[in-house]
Amino acid sequence: MLKHGEVFLRGRNRARFEELLHHNLRHALRQLPGATWVERGRSVTMVGGEPELDTLVACVRRVIGFNLVQPAVRVGSTVETIGHHAVEALRRVWQERSGGSGQISFAVRAKRRDKSFPLTSSVLAATVGERVCRETGARVDLSSPDVELTVEVDRKGSYLSWTRLRGQGGLPVGSSGRALALLSGGYDSPVAAYRAMRRGLACDYVHFTGAPYTDAASVYKAYALARELNRFQPGRTLWVVPLGRAQKQLAVAGAGRFQVVAQRRLMARTASALGQRLGADALVTGDSLGQVASQTVANLAAVDEAASLPLLRPLLGWEKQEIIDEARALGTADVSVLPDEDCCALLAPRQVSTHARVTDLQRVERRLELDELVEELLAGAWSLEPGTGSPCVPAVDSSGRRASAGYDGRGPLGSEV
Ligand code: ATP
Ligand code: MG
Repeated sequence: MLKHGEVFLRGRNRARFEELLHHNLRHALRQLPGATWVERGRSVTMVGGEPELDTLVACVRRVIGFNLVQPAVRVGSTVETIGHHAVEALRRVWQERSGGSGQISFAVRAKRRDKSFPLTSSVLAATVGERVCRETGARVDLSSPDVELTVEVDRKGSYLSWTRLRGQGGLPVGSSGRALALLSGGYDSPVAAYRAMRRGLACDYVHFTGAPYTDAASVYKAYALARELNRFQPGRTLWVVPLGRAQKQLAVAGAGRFQVVAQRRLMARTASALGQRLGADALVTGDSLGQVASQTVANLAAVDEAASLPLLRPLLGWEKQEIIDEARALGTADVSVLPDEDCCALLAPRQVSTHARVTDLQRVERRLELDELVEELLAGAWSLEPGTGSPCVPAVDSSGRRASAGYDGRGPLGSEV
């Protein structure tokens, strides 16, 4: 039994939000072994099928837009049947928690969605509670019970549930549009991408590597991170852009203390151009204010100035520990912790300017053909589909060119949401 989250607040857009929510749910269920079914109600969705309950629960808990996930049994809508199953459920939970020994307290909460049911919610709760008390010896505690038995009476049957698990909450992925998330190998950017998804943005990913001056480790990491993140949305694409030569050009142009910010501006420019071709409405980064020298207000503003799409920073006000905790909960931390050669470390000056001015950066950039450079970078980009388990590294044909991978600049690709 899945309870819808903020879809509630959507007024006239509600139907569109619910459509997306269920599209995403069905997509997630299709990844499971065995047939499943979905029954849509007004603020509740029922899901069931062949997969093991634990598998099913873990799967639906990852679907963004559901607040609560309640494993439940469907029983007939008579007081007798509901009471019988409530007794069974409490015995089972008691057994699981303490082998049936000691004391256990419970409360029954009833909701009557089918108004033709003969008892009111409170009378039903009291009747069922009395029977559970009598037949199991458990103690009633309405304020802080060990077990909360909930009964929801519906026209097609009643649902009895004994536990509530938190879902992801948030808005259905895709309901706020699309974004391109800049994914590096660290802790921050995957958490930022996830947070953007939770506000309804379907995210493609772009990773810049220091290739040809760095090895493929960072690409493997980005691929693994995108794969983890795709568990929360219908699978999307990872773009890889080799940036090494362009970084060298910036260094040769005399970027000096501005090298890191100049690289970030180039990333913002390139990602904006790619994002526009993919139909993205925004970019997402893992910047957090003041975390490192390159993330001061002045430096972030200098990067904004180079982006032609809105640049969103969901983690702006987060502390590092909060970010790491969330990365652990998401499952991305295990990947982020692995070593790689970060392209930003390549050619990084000993001291990074904390107050880069746009005019200083433009002076360096004027020495390059920026538009051509961005086109070259996109022409050298390639895409991977982490959600579908395709190989991590693009096939390279005998001439050394990537066989199927070159970005032909025609986009938009992957436009199913
Ligand atoms: P992260 O933990 O995400 O790597 P960070 O603390 O290392 O972040 P920076 O290296 O300053 O921070 O990067 C800030 C943001 O810029 C990243 O969160 C990411 O969104 C983007 N970014 C940095 N490097 C890359 C890269 N190589 N490819 C794609 N995006 C990048
Ligand atoms: Mg980084």
